[in-house]
Amino acid sequence: MKLDVAVIGASSAGLYAAEQLARCGKRVAVFEQQTELAPARRTLIITPQLKHVLGYVPEAAVLHRIHTISVAAGAVSASVRLRDPDLIIERSLLAQMLAQRAEQAGVPIHYGHRFRRFDAHPQGVTLQLQTAAGDTPTVVASAVIAADGIGSDVARAAGLPHPPTVPIIQAEVCLPAGWNPDVTWVWFDTEETHFFYWLIPESATHGVVGLVGDEGIQTRVLLEQFLVRHGLQPLGYQGAQVAMYDRTLRPWGSIGSAPILLVGDAAGQVKVSTVGGTVSGIWGAKAAVRALTRGTTYAHELWSLRRELDLHWLVRRLLDRADNRQYERLVQHISPAVQRFLGHYNRDEMAGKLWTLALRQPALLLLGGQLLFHRSSTETPPPASRTPMPEMTETDH
Ligand SMILES: Cc1cc2nc3c(=O)[nH]c(=O)nc-3n(C[C@H](O)[C@H](O)[C@H](O)COP(=O)(O)OP(=O)(O)OC[C@H]3O[C@@H](n4cnc5c(N)ncnc54)[C@H](O)[C@@H]3O)c2cc1C
Repeated sequence: MKLDVAVIGASSAGLYAAEQLARCGKRVAVFEQQTELAPARRTLIITPQLKHVLGYVPEAAVLHRIHTISVAAGAVSASVRLRDPDLIIERSLLAQMLAQRAEQAGVPIHYGHRFRRFDAHPQGVTLQLQTAAGDTPTVVASAVIAADGIGSDVARAAGLPHPPTVPIIQAEVCLPAGWNPDVTWVWFDTEETHFFYWLIPESATHGVVGLVGDEGIQTRVLLEQFLVRHGLQPLGYQGAQVAMYDRTLRPWGSIGSAPILLVGDAAGQVKVSTVGGTVSGIWGAKAAVRALTRGTTYAHELWSLRRELDLHWLVRRLLDRADNRQYERLVQHISPAVQRFLGHYNRDEMAGKLWTLALRQPALLLLGGQLLFHRSSTETPPPASRTPMPEMTETDH
């Protein structure tokens, strides 16, 4: 088999890239190690920027819409009304939809085909695969897109480094009685995590409570304790390691004349402020497609995504230094002007705009400056109060 582009991994980023390449007339195929497209259930909250990167809203995968995000630290909280609602998406439905679109565009998806290694070839690169039946077919391709997730075998074979990772775990729960299903809540508690907890409704009756942690088993224990504290029964768990953007990593390389372009978690294309990787992963796939169809470099096409991810990287560096008292001050600074700003621009379109927040709320700039010179929260003594969950009858949105 001779291809223009081999895509490794039937992830959202890989399937999107394959469809777009086929529509541009490229001979492209996807190779996926699983024998069928049945990724584990994962409830995702995704900004409306998804429509911008995909070109459409994947309605078949949308479970629910969220119009308000509320944040709490200690005893203080603030709410932001979103101009365009966040989408609550089921990952497997999104993957199925993207796979269907890729196949309709003429892309063969070879399930049960695991990428193993590369060999040089005069017309590009030879990929050695292993099928679920134990066969070892080879494929020659002029270019490779690696959408094979955090442990990317392609990156390893190409000698490219893996991005750092953090664990995310979320429990599927029934919403507490009286809970407003239009609102996602986020709680900061640096005593337990330097990221945050959340409750994301996925319907009028159900949602997920989750946590980005620092270490796998401890994260699960913290989440279980959180559920017990708030009287929530887990119906099931969703969890995995997620990549963290590292601005020093270059997600591309080459084997002979074949460019090897990493996209999605394999490339660390994840906003580290919120640890969301779906929109930015597809954005990275879009950049890879452009590079391969326009004859430009991936580095050039990645410019706008890297600018966005760099900003989130800087925000994360500052937040990692905050303790609970500083998080309380941060939430207190969410004035009506800040609420309007955060409601207007989504979390995937902050580059070039976030700085205007300083004009609307100069106290945020001051707080940012203080954090720059503050010790990391992991070094600070534990604060006195623990973030309470809001009243179950919360109706202020
Ligand atoms: C619990 C949880 C909640 C999350 N919530 C959100 C959220 O709310 N919003 C958000 O934006 N992001 C969220 N994320 C992050 C998001 O899910 C990931 O960033 C995104 O799924 C990464 O997708 P990907 O396209 O890079 O690869 P993946 O989804 O990891 O897919 C990689 C694919 O490659 C295949 N593969 C691997 N190795 C090989 C090989 N050698 N050969 C062939 N195939 C291979 C795998 O089988 C898999 O199908 C969450 C993550 C977790 C764990």
